Amino acid sequence: MSPTPRRTKIVATLGPATDDPPVLEAVLRAGVDVARVNFSHGAADEHLARVARFREAARKVGKFAAVLADLPGPKLRVKIAAARELAPGGEVSFSLTAEPVHADDLVLTEPEVLADVRPGQRMLLDDGRLQLDAGTTQGGRLLARVVVGGTLKPNKGLNLPDTPLTIAAVTDRDRAALLVAARAGVDWVALSFVRGPEAAGEVRAALAAAGIRAPVIAKVERPEAVRSAAAIVAAFDGVMVARGDLGVEIALEKVPTVQKMLINECRAAGKPVITATDMLDSMRESPRPTRAEASDVANAIFDGTDAVMLSGETAVGKYPVEAVGCMARIAVETETHLRDTGRSLGAHFNRPDFGIDDPMAEAAFDLADQVEATAIIIPTLSGRTARLVTRRRPWARVIAVAPTDPVLQGLAIDWGVTPVRMTPAGPGGDRTAMAVRDAFAAGTVRPGERVVILAGHPIEGGPLYPTIRVVRVDGNGESVPP
Ligand code: ATP
Ligand code: MG
Ligand code: MG
Repeated sequence: MSPTPRRTKIVATLGPATDDPPVLEAVLRAGVDVARVNFSHGAADEHLARVARFREAARKVGKFAAVLADLPGPKLRVKIAAARELAPGGEVSFSLTAEPVHADDLVLTEPEVLADVRPGQRMLLDDGRLQLDAGTTQGGRLLARVVVGGTLKPNKGLNLPDTPLTIAAVTDRDRAALLVAARAGVDWVALSFVRGPEAAGEVRAALAAAGIRAPVIAKVERPEAVRSAAAIVAAFDGVMVARGDLGVEIALEKVPTVQKMLINECRAAGKPVITATDMLDSMRESPRPTRAEASDVANAIFDGTDAVMLSGETAVGKYPVEAVGCMARIAVETETHLRDTGRSLGAHFNRPDFGIDDPMAEAAFDLADQVEATAIIIPTLSGRTARLVTRRRPWARVIAVAPTDPVLQGLAIDWGVTPVRMTPAGPGGDRTAMAVRDAFAAGTVRPGERVVILAGHPIEGGPLYPTIRVVRVDGNGESVPP
């Protein structure tokens, strides 16, 4: 694989539109780094088959790509068999239990939350397209008045922005989904509707119970989560700016500034952040996006996002390959512009208690800049050193040389990082020189390039102290004087 000039990563939601293996290979070639499987839609066997096909396609294309299992969390959905018209001014009823009381009652995936709803609170359906005004509870049913009407399709979401929710952060549906995710094998898990940092412990316990070892992303889409952003970033391994539900749960006009705030919080903590929803929405139906959508992708990159995400565009859209290709071109153009105009995406950081690792990462970053190195090669067991470097947004390529699939696939989400397999070595080998050879063999560095190597941790067979080197790569992938 030739060195990718693109730094921003692309997350694409899998669905019926990407089920053909040739389409899956095409979206990977077009730029997909992370496949998102939304456990809110589709059955267990579909998810298992989708992940298996994606792994196979990634292997064929020769790329380390991640699978992200997106859990519904306490995202409420309306269970109806067929679409229904809701007339403005009309009345609708919700059953307070899992079975309808009257035949035409709407039933929710988590009916118990209706106990929290008070008269006068807004009830928003289908990302806010339909609006109800909650009334009183009588005879096991909650009555509501239709304020903004329209067609309610099956499995659409219900948002309760005015209602403080007492439902658990991780539901039975999430636990069931995690068992499927465990069988499928996933690299990242995302939890919807996180309200506070405590959810991290709950979801990690659920992962452990399901036998999954994967980092967890908080989807920020509730007003409480926006208020606790810093604590949530600290507690989770990354964040998704889930603009679909967020734009219903808080005022739409606040979404752009909340996006910037969340990206800054994640950048400061050195954790990956994904900007999601509607980025190229018109490409569900059209081979070209609107100008506003192209600007939206570029602006998320200006904001400093690690990754940009496609949802319906790739899950059910008519142009999944074109959407990924378009996103990749916008990313490369935006990054090239930033670089050519001498700008940095680097930010001010907090300095968490990483001991000397973070200062070492900073030194490698500065050194690469000053000696005009084209790449920073990082042998790493966990991927952490690569994350500490890449959060500074070097224009030098960050090549993470790691031994295991979970670490290599997990790094596919991080801005600017190219994962490369580490060759197993016997004792006595020079790990720093070997990392250069691995990067060379993978085609990620070319002869003649000057590179910085950072080995943040004592590495087996290498020096037992953190090491930074500058070398030039010769025609055989050997390290020679810079
Ligand atoms: P979330 O709030 O988690 O984003 P969502 O309902 O918005 O949930 P997305 O994953 O954003 O779902 O996908 C957008 C739309 O694409 C969905 O509303 C659904 O209509 C469709 N979709 C997504 N995944 C699938 C799937 N596996 N099968 C069928 N349709 C899907
Ligand atoms: Mg969505
Ligand atoms: Mg959502």
